[in-house]
Amino acid sequence: MHFYPKYARRRTSTTRVGDLLIGSDYPIRLQTMANTHTTDVELSIAQARRCQAAGAELFRYTTQGIREVEALAEIKAAVKDLPLVADVHFRSDVADAAALVADKVRINPGNYAPTEEEIRVRFTRLIALCKEHKTALRIGVNHGSLSPRIMQQYGDTPEGMTASCMEFLRIAVEQDFRDIVLSIKASDTRIMVTTVRMLVEAMDKEDMHFPLHLGVTEAGEGEDGRIKSAVGIGALLADGIGDTVRVSLSEEPEAELPVARELVEYFTDPKSLRYTQNQAEIEGHTLIYTCAEDDAQLLALHAAAECGHLLWDQGCTELIIRPTCTAMQDLAETLSKDILQAAGLRRYKTEFVSCPGCGRTMFDLQQTVAQVKQAFQRQTTNDQRPLKIAIMGCIVNGPGEMADADYGYVGAGRDRISLYRKKECILKNIPQEQAVERLLQLIREDNP
Ligand code: SF4
Repeated sequence: MHFYPKYARRRTSTTRVGDLLIGSDYPIRLQTMANTHTTDVELSIAQARRCQAAGAELFRYTTQGIREVEALAEIKAAVKDLPLVADVHFRSDVADAAALVADKVRINPGNYAPTEEEIRVRFTRLIALCKEHKTALRIGVNHGSLSPRIMQQYGDTPEGMTASCMEFLRIAVEQDFRDIVLSIKASDTRIMVTTVRMLVEAMDKEDMHFPLHLGVTEAGEGEDGRIKSAVGIGALLADGIGDTVRVSLSEEPEAELPVARELVEYFTDPKSLRYTQNQAEIEGHTLIYTCAEDDAQLLALHAAAECGHLLWDQGCTELIIRPTCTAMQDLAETLSKDILQAAGLRRYKTEFVSCPGCGRTMFDLQQTVAQVKQAFQRQTTNDQRPLKIAIMGCIVNGPGEMADADYGYVGAGRDRISLYRKKECILKNIPQEQAVERLLQLIREDNP
């Protein structure tokens, strides 16, 4: 029998974000991100309030330009009791402007500056602004959006993501700037977990102990999205890693918070079923997980959070879930297959990868995900070859971040969509009302 060791949190330094303290001396913080257009200040404030009521302790907005930074300043004036984060890609001038307004600025090392020299110049300037305005930084690396320089040296690998992050951390340490949170995200749960573990090791070697934010990108929605998030986030929480968490779902952001809370409590509360009744054992290459949940959603979440890391770390390729509650027993077989798929160990059904949407999304993402799923299920009832289909809100981050999807449906502008086969754009800027049908046609032609 495998009894779980007491939860032991990785020691970290403390990062202040507004009035919120993040790090191992404090509870694991829950956060989410707006899917409104940031310039729609009224809607953006209302969404922040709803998410705060659902448990968000930090709230992030897309700030793609100076107009969005100005809108964020208006939102900030109205939302004083919730730390706000500006999410910046591509434009270091926007990051500089956001540092004067937001409690924390997220930058992506993959698209911050073109050369090592430029990174040093721009990042040093940003750090000076952050020090002056007491603004924290998140260095947020994403699989699929590494810089060409890092890609050339390492490829799109855990080593590349770690190196990209460490490059920025060394500059911050040189400048004696410590209000930093790190994130390394990927849609592939195993890559995400491997990379975060690698980053922790790299930091330990250089005596750095920055807090970590956890999340699986493009996890999708519904039960599959929750299972995938739980596999990735749960594996790291089990290691004691993680100081803030976001569960990214293609749903309204307030729906993410109960899931994040449940995952955190499962690992950190000594009275949770993890430490009182659930247990795992290994027979050959099969993991057998016995669990006492009597609620289907909790069973899925806890089993996924627990089994991913055990499957990988113990070299298991098969999973048997044994609920002690008879009402749960019918669910066990499908759940086992879903967890194996979320852990990247088997693909038995079509996988839908979709981003949560944000201020960059120019079409109704949630409705589109539902439409594609429905249409695809109708079309491929007898299909024997499970595909991976990505539905991404924007062209800016979508194509790079849709991982190894077979087909991609990517927002290209207001009500305009581009369709991809692997990384190749097949149809560009087609009207949204034709896009689902054209995607299905493309898949039919490729898979007669
Ligand atoms: S892919 Fe684009 S729309 Fe979707 S969450 Fe990322 S930045 Fe936002």
